[in-house]
Amino acid sequence: MLNLMMDDQLNISMVMEYAEQTAAHVEIVSVLSNGQQHRYTYADAFQRARKLANALDQLQIAAQEPVATLAWNDYRHFELYYAVPCSGRICHTINPRLFPEQIVYIIKHAKNRIVFLDPQFVPLLEKIHSELPLLQHIVVLCAADELPQSSLPNLISYEALIATHPDSYMWPELDERTPSGLCYTSGTTGNPKGVLYSHRSTLLHTLAGCLPNATNLSGADVVLPIVPMFHVNAWGVPYSAAITGCKLVLPGNKAGDGATLTALINQEQVTYAMGVPTVWLALVNHLESSGQQVSSLRRAVSGGAACPLALIERMRAQGIDLEVGWGMTETSPLGSYNRRQPWYDELPSEQYQRQVTLAGRQVFGIRLRIVSPDGQSLPRDGKASGILQARGPWVACGYYGGTPSKGWFDTGDVATINPQGYVCIVDRTKDVIKSGGEWISSIDIENAVMAHPAVLEAAVIGLPHPTWSERPLLVVVPRPTHSVEPSELLEFLKDRVAKWWLPDLCILAEGLPHTATGKVSKKDLREQYQEIQWPQSATQSANAS
Ligand code: ADP
Repeated sequence: MLNLMMDDQLNISMVMEYAEQTAAHVEIVSVLSNGQQHRYTYADAFQRARKLANALDQLQIAAQEPVATLAWNDYRHFELYYAVPCSGRICHTINPRLFPEQIVYIIKHAKNRIVFLDPQFVPLLEKIHSELPLLQHIVVLCAADELPQSSLPNLISYEALIATHPDSYMWPELDERTPSGLCYTSGTTGNPKGVLYSHRSTLLHTLAGCLPNATNLSGADVVLPIVPMFHVNAWGVPYSAAITGCKLVLPGNKAGDGATLTALINQEQVTYAMGVPTVWLALVNHLESSGQQVSSLRRAVSGGAACPLALIERMRAQGIDLEVGWGMTETSPLGSYNRRQPWYDELPSEQYQRQVTLAGRQVFGIRLRIVSPDGQSLPRDGKASGILQARGPWVACGYYGGTPSKGWFDTGDVATINPQGYVCIVDRTKDVIKSGGEWISSIDIENAVMAHPAVLEAAVIGLPHPTWSERPLLVVVPRPTHSVEPSELLEFLKDRVAKWWLPDLCILAEGLPHTATGKVSKKDLREQYQEIQWPQSATQSANAS
């Protein structure tokens, strides 16, 4: 028997229609590259999205053709997020921080014929353009009179492109399985791989992301995505803000430093912000040193990398609950979320400290499990650690240009899951340190050392050792205002990690290498220190700075 429910397709155009009818006058504020602010409403955004869809038709961009973007978070990028998929094309966001050769690879692999890019990325495209024979249309995200001088052929400004088109458009009734978005993983090993989202996956991810135990967004929130729209859909917020009617603050490329962030949060009365741990570190350093406050900001989410306890506590001292989320490009990205529960405050101090740093519980719709290297399911007892696997309607089952596979998706993370369903990310499979047949979590050591007041940033890597197969090396960037000896840091760790986890060597460095998504590049660190000489004694340290 067939059910008797309407078979409406789950499309991104539903998000647009709903927001237009329920949040038409809610503001979207964008910080422009000249520092000025642009303000308009959701209704204005969707009106312009219709003009853009007409322009894409006129340019004869085919159905299901990837439309590339190289852009920061602002209102024009937001319009692309809707016009491109809702008109039946694929919104293909590209991370401009990738190496030029990776960008060339991605544009060629996706066979992009059209790219929309911020003026500041024109020089980047000039350098690689000769390697991109398929690229026909280059649209700069600016007004006609702001078009930069360039050697690129037939540059057109976004405003000139959409100006003459009508603001009415019949969005096609797309099958919910139609592709809607494309994002390549940064590919620390091998070439980047494209994750192809669908309307259905995006819509379900949007709904789950808004749940009370996830972001819990509502019309009372002012949300600031510091996570870039060029990587994993800015964690889905361009869509979840629209269905919850949040005021959206898009920071452009101006969100890097604590002072700018503080000013923006206070000016727009931001209540919820999203970013990687380094962003929160920059914010809290600024708040502590300047004495300024961000009283409207009640909650923030930290994802993309492990979040140290010290950071969560320093943020709490500023009145901000920093919650941890876990996910990846292949999971759209939301997989789990640690929404602070009232009972956390009743936990004994040590348990509390562990609880707040966990990666949270799987969001409804995602299933997570841990398995042994031979694929056996492991218990959710908080002790057994294994390879974290995921499945669900917004988890990838293959990569762009490849074939779909069945079964669970292997995340490449090692984790434990406790009986309450809380996931603890132990490490990435490739970063876990294998010492004498046991595993050492680099993340746990980093979190412990981050509590030392002199530590600005820290990374632990495993390097070959003649006796133990691998041993941990700790690399620390001290805060400019503090001086510290490596031996002091190792002493500090003594009471905080198991004896055999204690790094054999600590090195002070001026900075750490980062990936295109802002994480510490452990691959580069391992290369940098591959010739390291281990000291005789396990606790001996050296200062190589
Ligand atoms: P890439 O940077 O390679 O494109 P993603 O941005 O998709 O990859 O990053 C996904 C990875 O980031 C996860 O597999 C995990 O290792 C790490 N990660 C994300 N959130 C957390 C978290 N809360 N704790 C620890 N690691 C995390």
